Amino acid sequence: MKYYSTNKNAPLASLKRAVIKGLAGDKGLYMPENIDLMKDFVIGEMKDMTFREIACVVAQTLFGDDVNGDTLDRIVADTLPFDTPVVHLHDNIYCLELFHGPTLAFKDVGARFMARLLAYFIDREGVRDVNVLVATSGDTGSAVANGFLGVEGINVYVLYPKGRVSAIQECQFATLGRNITALEIDGTFDDCQALVKAAFMDEEMNEHSRLTSANSINIARFLPQTFYYFYAYAQLDKTGMADKLVVSVPSGNFGNLTAGLFAHWMGLPIRRFIAANNRNDVFLDYLKTGVYTPRASVSTLANAMDVGNPSNFARIMDLFSIYPKPYEAIRKRISGYRYTDEDIAGTMRRVYKEYGYVLDPHGACGYQALADYRPADSETGLFLETAHPAKFKSDVDRILGTDLEIPARLRAFMDGEKQSIPLGRDFEGFKKYFLRQ
Ligand SMILES: *Cc1c(COP(=O)(O)O)cnc(C)c1O
Repeated sequence: MKYYSTNKNAPLASLKRAVIKGLAGDKGLYMPENIDLMKDFVIGEMKDMTFREIACVVAQTLFGDDVNGDTLDRIVADTLPFDTPVVHLHDNIYCLELFHGPTLAFKDVGARFMARLLAYFIDREGVRDVNVLVATSGDTGSAVANGFLGVEGINVYVLYPKGRVSAIQECQFATLGRNITALEIDGTFDDCQALVKAAFMDEEMNEHSRLTSANSINIARFLPQTFYYFYAYAQLDKTGMADKLVVSVPSGNFGNLTAGLFAHWMGLPIRRFIAANNRNDVFLDYLKTGVYTPRASVSTLANAMDVGNPSNFARIMDLFSIYPKPYEAIRKRISGYRYTDEDIAGTMRRVYKEYGYVLDPHGACGYQALADYRPADSETGLFLETAHPAKFKSDVDRILGTDLEIPARLRAFMDGEKQSIPLGRDFEGFKKYFLRQ
């Protein structure tokens, strides 16, 4: 399989090159040249398969041209020592719990898969060391750092804004050591992102070492997210609830929703997607007006969705560009909703009171968007719960009056010692630091 750039101004790349480079030379995002359809009967058989088995079948369809079956199966097995169960909440509303991985957020799936695929290429194809740069507002850093921890030949640099990530989030990437370096930047998340982008464009840094991104721009991070859409469908299919499925996705950079669109393109019968946003709602604006206007992000309770210029928007446009009227086609397939912090808190309280279910602020957006969409009786509504509420314990406890128990996995991180390197937000300082490594 070859991968092209959404900007159509870079040479086609192999899977290996697309994964190692992250972003195409023309700053576009890589897309597979074709998306293979899965046969209906294969999807039908998934209801009797485990998550891992389903993920192997999907991985084979996506990556089978480039990586042999046994290797893919091993990568999938190493990626998924955990489950993503579907929970029935009420009426025809279901929740896909994506937070059972090591760092308790859905990004574990893509980060772990990417780490193992990259390690395979390094090992097999004699690629020299790769440096992964990742800017984080909290959740990405922990998933990527833990996904890559101890993987030989890969060094990870996590750039995070000083004083702006929660203590729980910070300890998940700043205490690890080994091949993980946490860089505490005296600035905002946007500054961290800008440093990473500047690094990718800097010739000297690229000559010094191979740089790649582990944000959802990297195909190896976002394509594996198709796995759990198939698995969710299979779980609902088992109880006869998979017809007319509507899926609500709490969205920031739109990697998760784009993965859902890919699953649909591969033949998974999903009727409609809902993009649930917090106050950072440029996508909703696009749905309303047909005009895409990025803006600076504002901070909200659902901080992993505080994105003012979603990177995967380019992939969505590209996917729908085959239609004569892409904007109309997008509107037919995706609905949008947006919620303020007050809305989010209100939803969390109501769902806790009425159903005894603790939502995190991101999942609350997903749930509320589904409730506001009001799936018909004949439809099944599924929202993605992207993080464990304990990751946002102080907000959740304050809003719900609870004292959430912190899962042992999370507590273990909190015992570690912080070992971040403080840096300013100027590029020259960052570059100087990096070139000394
Ligand atoms: C990253 C993240 C999101 C947003 O996902 P995208 O793929 O960037 O749209 C939502 N919720 C949580 C908890 C996250 O960590």
